[in-house]
Amino acid sequence: IDRQLTHRGAARSVTGMAAILAHEIKNPLSGIRGAAQLLEQGIAEGDRDLTRLICDETDRICLLVDRIEAFNEGRPAKREPVNIHQVLEHVKKIALAGFAKGLRFIESYDPSLPPVSGDRDQLIQVFLNLVKNAAEAAPSKGGEITLTTAYRHGVRMAVPGTRRRLRLPLEVTVRDNGEGVPPDLKPHLFEPFVTTKSSGTGLGLALVAKIVGDHGGMVECESEPRRTVFRVLLPVANE
Ligand code: ADP
Ligand code: MG
Repeated sequence: IDRQLTHRGAARSVTGMAAILAHEIKNPLSGIRGAAQLLEQGIAEGDRDLTRLICDETDRICLLVDRIEAFNEGRPAKREPVNIHQVLEHVKKIALAGFAKGLRFIESYDPSLPPVSGDRDQLIQVFLNLVKNAAEAAPSKGGEITLTTAYRHGVRMAVPGTRRRLRLPLEVTVRDNGEGVPPDLKPHLFEPFVTTKSSGTGLGLALVAKIVGDHGGMVECESEPRRTVFRVLLPVANE
């Protein structure tokens, strides 16, 4: 018990430190951004590329810091019945209004799916991250994102790294027809700061894994060219 407590204490102070750092990084950043904007007004048109670059890059760091803060928020998760189909439809609406314009969504929902016990906002975050990655991976022509839900009777899943087996009968998948996850990335996919995107943060899937784990579930990925599936397995509300 002692060791566990120390461990938790250490984890808490590390996340506390990250939160303080995140906050302290934002102050000088907004100063840099403000100065770059002022400079932009006083210099020749041809040099504005550089001030633009400063603004864009400071925005990018700001975004990264926001994500670190969100990651460390540590807000206690709610435990209430959540309808996953409502969560998916909400995510789809956000996606179609913004980052997934022009992509085709295909749904295959199991209407008998029971509710999940969890935090609706956090589950929205999970599927928003998965759908965002799918949208970024899907081809701009003929891009498709498929959302499915299923109830798997009697399926027991081994918990990686333990000898436990859990009943996780709710299966929610997000599939895209993009080029797939690069094979060398596969073992590190859910680690923080792993990204192949020039303006990515690599925190999306780490957050997904954290929230799904907090809900007593699991997330896995299966990927080949033109077919990438992220499968989220969750326990049922009243079990
Ligand atoms: P980010 O999106 O900021 O790069 P993520 O943690 O969301 O961070 O994703 C990490 C990396 O995993 C991505 O940069 C990408 O290389 C890979 N990835 C995630 N989802 C997919 C997908 N649907 N298809 C192909 N690669 C993916
Ligand atoms: Mg992402």
